Amino acid sequence: MMIVMKPTATDQEVQAVIDRVQAVGARTHPIVGEELTVIGAIGDREHVQRLELEGAPGVDRVLPILKPYKLASAQIKHGERSVLDIAGRKIGGTKFAMIAGPCTVESREQTLSTARIVKDAGATLFRGGAYKPRTSPYAFQGLGQEGLRMLAEAKAETGMPIVTELMDLRDLDQVLEVADVIQIGARNMQNYSLLAEVGRCGVPALLKRGLSSTLEELLMAAEYILKEGNGNVMLCERGIRTFETAYRFTLDLMAIPVLKQMSHLPVIVDPSHAAGRRDLVLPLSLAAAAAGADGIIVEVHPQPDQAICDGPQQLVADEFADYLERVHAAAAVAGKTPSRTSAMADALV
Ligand code: PEP
Ligand code: MN
Repeated sequence: MMIVMKPTATDQEVQAVIDRVQAVGARTHPIVGEELTVIGAIGDREHVQRLELEGAPGVDRVLPILKPYKLASAQIKHGERSVLDIAGRKIGGTKFAMIAGPCTVESREQTLSTARIVKDAGATLFRGGAYKPRTSPYAFQGLGQEGLRMLAEAKAETGMPIVTELMDLRDLDQVLEVADVIQIGARNMQNYSLLAEVGRCGVPALLKRGLSSTLEELLMAAEYILKEGNGNVMLCERGIRTFETAYRFTLDLMAIPVLKQMSHLPVIVDPSHAAGRRDLVLPLSLAAAAAGADGIIVEVHPQPDQAICDGPQQLVADEFADYLERVHAAAAVAGKTPSRTSAMADALV
């Protein structure tokens, strides 16, 4: 259920409703919007209905949440969009975020040089995998903790917040030491215990759409994180399996406007893993930005032909500034301005 408070409701009235809902064993998720507060009540519907909250001080109305993805639904925020704050960088709303960096952390030099280049060009966040989900168990699996240390160094030097993947709950504490955003890979989208734990730890999450998952399944996965009280979730379209074999995956551009109708959460697009080929990354990025994506996560490498993994799709670092300028122009078509860059953030410190 959704308890919509009056715009004039006081903090005490909001708290009184929360207490009453919790007393019947339901969880409460207060969502404080610019105009009004909505309290999501997740639990036994009949118990909440029996409270007859309609008419209680400060309560405007009580509505059922019609979708199975309750906290992720657009309905719960009355059309307002979630804007995340990642170490001072805004994601969502009118802001466009560029998350850039190598597929995987390979060496100190490769990581630091890429971080410097993408920062100088104006990227918002730095990405890099220390734990890699590889199709083959014989392929390079990432540098693990050593890789995390390199990411920490890149963050200390450039000030860029870090996005890195968590594959296994046993690595959570180490990942939390450096990650500003935890990436949940496409293959783990339905790893529900992982999702719930990421929800409990409260760190922002970038949740990638499974290779063959519907948008509703993606939102149900997001719900596992939100339900634990972590509202900082970004959804990521990264290409899905279709009958087409001419390219690696099919980037589902329609997911951008449709997810935005279904949910209040920011929508990020990953053209690199969808395409598997560098030449497609720019056109897909332009299309995604113009279609209203809240950001792009893209792979960049100083020497992609020598990359240990995903070389063919990584952008050449030296060409990144030009790429970003063009993508920002496409984002402007959708009415978005670049999210505060790390260089600007540094200047404000
Ligand atoms: C990645 O971003 O490094 C990655 C492996 O992506 P995905 O989970 O979408 O395949
Ligand atoms: Mn990759």
